[in-house]
Formats: sequence, structure tokens, C-alpha cells
Amino acid sequence: MSEEIYDLTNYDDDVASMTEDEIMDAVADAESEAESESELEAEPQDETMANSQQKRGICGLFNMGNTCYANAAIQMLRAIPEFSAFCNSHPAALATAAADAPKAARILSAYADLSRTMWSATNPVSCRPAAYINVIRDVVRDTPYDQFGTRMPNDAHEYLTYLLDQFNEAIKGPGPAAAAEASPAIKAWCSIWAKEYSELINLFFGLERIVCKCMTCGNESERFEVFNTLKVNPEPGVPLEELLGRDREPESLEGYACEKCAPVHQPAEIRRTIWHLPPVLFVAVRRFNGDGRSKNHAAVHYAGTDLSLERFFDGGSTDSSKERIYEPIAVVDHHGSGFGGHYTAQAYNIVEKRWHFYDDDGIQNIEKPMFGGPTYIICFRGKTPA
Ligand SMILES: [Zn+2]
Repeated sequence: MSEEIYDLTNYDDDVASMTEDEIMDAVADAESEAESESELEAEPQDETMANSQQKRGICGLFNMGNTCYANAAIQMLRAIPEFSAFCNSHPAALATAAADAPKAARILSAYADLSRTMWSATNPVSCRPAAYINVIRDVVRDTPYDQFGTRMPNDAHEYLTYLLDQFNEAIKGPGPAAAAEASPAIKAWCSIWAKEYSELINLFFGLERIVCKCMTCGNESERFEVFNTLKVNPEPGVPLEELLGRDREPESLEGYACEKCAPVHQPAEIRRTIWHLPPVLFVAVRRFNGDGRSKNHAAVHYAGTDLSLERFFDGGSTDSSKERIYEPIAVVDHHGSGFGGHYTAQAYNIVEKRWHFYDDDGIQNIEKPMFGGPTYIICFRGKTPA
């Protein structure tokens, strides 16, 4: 039997299993509503971006009042070809959600409509995302996420995470069942997603194994957790891959409630290893401390080259995602101080096969993505389907 998390999918048209050509076709298939089309405003842009009749999706976003965090997060999401294909093809994303529809359905519908509008642009333009922003402001009212409805600056990674949760919430259903003889990893994955599974889980979530070892008796206990972001602490002069390694070094724990040593609590060591990686993975740089006001400006050293995460995998995992090679497809940058500051995005356009820099409604061609002090979130995409 299979021990591959990827093989648990039961979706015939799962975006994570589409070929590169199918994804390209689905992205280029963007049809926007007439209402949204009027939100596209031609902007004088870089003259090197020649006119075209083809849908190219080079589209900036006007700032709607401190919405640069949202604009940068949207440019990152939109650069994920599988997700843009999803927005152009999934029935829930194509549906127009009424004002009394569930909140998550409204967010997905509004975002997908914005994504289609942006991808339908034939020439470099910018879009006024008023309809989308209005839905967000309406939906988050009186919820723990009401900060996204204010005109205050917000955190782009928190926003991105919120959107992904809502998108899954809108389409979730029962997850795959683990066979009786399945490994603990597969059983954990199926249990975690038992009631809230969707093809987006397949696209965005990985699984890690956490082993806690009692330093007194040597007893080990394991558990599994899901994640969609790997986090790193920026340190001067340390390459990105090394930062990822440092974040996975064993940690000491005092007062561990070891089963064997009970009731005495003992010192223990915690090790985290990767069991499964998704086709699309976020890496976030811990820039802000608890109060959100001070910021670590240390540069991220990364040339944008192929990234393998195989060395962080658990020795027991036979998941084929272990061999996957990742490349960056979008970067969210944060400029300035901790409180306030400004967000921009660098995004790879799958149709144009080139990178663009987005500063709200400002758009520039760039040769390749730049990494450094402003680097905040990097979106990686697997180069070949694993
Ligand atoms: Zn013990």
C-alpha cells in the first residue's frame, strides 16, 4: 500500500496534480465580470512592456488606504499558478457569493473575481480592488480578524494565512481515510484534516514529525503537526538554507512529563523533522518582535537558486516530496521600521515567464528577484511534480 500523502487525494481535477500546460491554460482562461473589468485602469507604465492582445496579467493594485500589506499578499498568491488556475476553474471560486452567504464563501468569491480580473489584463494596468476590500471589511467585522477591516497597517503574513484559512473553509469537506495498517504519519494527516480537507490542503500544507526524547530514561514520544510556512530568524551573513537548518536544531525542554518517569518531570530534547512538503511552500522571516514595533533588518542571503529541503526530512519518511526541488515564485518585502513601513512584492508571471516588481499600482520589469534586508515572505514552488 501507498505511504505517500500525495496519493491520498481523491480529487480527479485537483489543481496540485495538473500538468504545467493544463495550469497555463487555466490561468490564461481568466474571464472577468464586466463590473470588475471597469476597475482596471490603464496606467502609464514602463515602456519596455510592449502592448499586447494576449492576456498577460501584469496588473498592479491601487492602495485603498494602508492596504499595501494586502496588495503584496495578493500579488504573491496570484503568482501561484496552481492557485490562479483554481480561481479560474473551481465552482466555488467561480460562483458569485450573495451578501448573506457564509463569510468564507464570500471571501473566496471576491478574491477569485479579483484574481480573474487581474489575470485578464492584456496590457500593464492597475486595478482598484474596491469590491474585494469591501467584502473583507464587511466579513471581518466583529470577528478576531477585524483589524483587516480597519485602515491601519497590518502584517502581510498574518493576512496571507487568514486568506488561505478562509479559502479552505469555503470548500472544505471530509478528508481521506487512513487504512488500518497505515503509518502513524498517514493516520495523523488523515485525522488532522478529517473534517476540513480540500484540494488546497494538498497544495499548501506539509507534515512534520516532532519527537520528544526524555534525557533521563531515553524514552521517545512522537507527534505530527501540519504547516504551510517554514520560519527563519535572519542572521547577518548566514545563507537562507543554513537559517532553515538552524531553526530545526534540537531544542531543550525542562520539566517534560515523561510517561516512563512519571510523576517526576525530566529534561527532554525536542527534534522536528519534515515528513511531507507541499508543492507550494512559504518561508517567512521573523522580522518583528512581540510588540510589532522593533524589527530585525538582517539581510537574507539567497541567490534565488534551486532549493532542496531533503536534509531536513525524517529518516523514516518515504514521501516523494523529499526529492522535490523548489524555486522562488514570489517575494513579499517589508521596508522601513517595525510599526508602519511599506510592503511591496516581487512576482514571477507564468505567462510572461518573467519577474515583476509591484509597489501598489507601480509596476516594473525585473531580471530576477532580489533578497536582502526587506525580504519578509518567500513563496517557493516545486519545479517538477513529485
Ligand atoms: Zn523518562
